[in-house]
Amino acid sequence: MEDYPKSLLEFEGRFSSEEACLEYLAQLRWPDGYRCPRCQHHKAWLTKRNLFHCADCGYETFSTAGTIFQDTRKPLQLWFRAIWSIVGQKNGVSAKELQRVLGFKRYETIWIWLHKLRVAMVRPGRERLSGTLEVDETYIGGERPGKSGRGAAGKSLVLIAVEDKGKQIGRIRLRRIPDASADSLIMAVKESVEPGSLVRTDGWVGYGPLSAAGYEHTIVRKSADVGDNLLPLINRGAALLKRWLIGTHQGAVRPSHLDYYMDEFTFRFNRRKSYSRAKLFYRLVQQAVFIASVFGYEICGGNSFN
Ligand SMILES: [Zn+2]
Repeated sequence: MEDYPKSLLEFEGRFSSEEACLEYLAQLRWPDGYRCPRCQHHKAWLTKRNLFHCADCGYETFSTAGTIFQDTRKPLQLWFRAIWSIVGQKNGVSAKELQRVLGFKRYETIWIWLHKLRVAMVRPGRERLSGTLEVDETYIGGERPGKSGRGAAGKSLVLIAVEDKGKQIGRIRLRRIPDASADSLIMAVKESVEPGSLVRTDGWVGYGPLSAAGYEHTIVRKSADVGDNLLPLINRGAALLKRWLIGTHQGAVRPSHLDYYMDEFTFRFNRRKSYSRAKLFYRLVQQAVFIASVFGYEICGGNSFN
């Protein structure tokens, strides 16, 4: 049973206390009921310090241990409001906007929250793309006047893979790559796309080994049929990504942080047809609960945001 508030009013009513937020986390963490980590007993009560106290052996666990909410000094109610704001808008919110909405004094706090939540947007063990795809690489970010082209300062090379669902984009995957060599490209394709899939690329030699790597490889060449737009789905996907980075985040993305932003874009894009944004709230909290890897978590590229 996917249980989540369907509207802002329901949300406000439901998460009006810390206990209600903790109960919700517990419900997502133990969908079949609480289990004591030590003795497997199924009954516990919540102590004043927000610990689950096992009714049998007395073992106490922090209800937020192993989640991205672990060690937070802020109320969960604020976290829940942040998540609701992030998923509630089609294009998301910038750290600045969220800082204003939540009334935080320090910009850095909300900036770190957003990055933690972006980590939670990647579902552990998510499957690779499959079927028919377009694959290409493109430069992202680092727009500075007077500088463009290959290897331009501050730009990152990104491999884009999109599923072709009959002229419509299915799901998307994005991977930062060090260069456009065959080694880098094939490794990124392997991480993103199921072997056996049909992959369309342009004629760049770096994609030459795709067949040997287990893919059905088609090279699209300029022709009267195709015109100049060889990979139309890729071009649309890349344009949406660039527009989102500029529109929502004012393009203020450091190359070392780009992965986090791409994870957020992917999360949003691949769920863009989700009939309910409220359901995205459920998904994100659920993934935030199971993201044990954020233990002692440090943001790659440094916590500095200037
Ligand atoms: Zn126990």
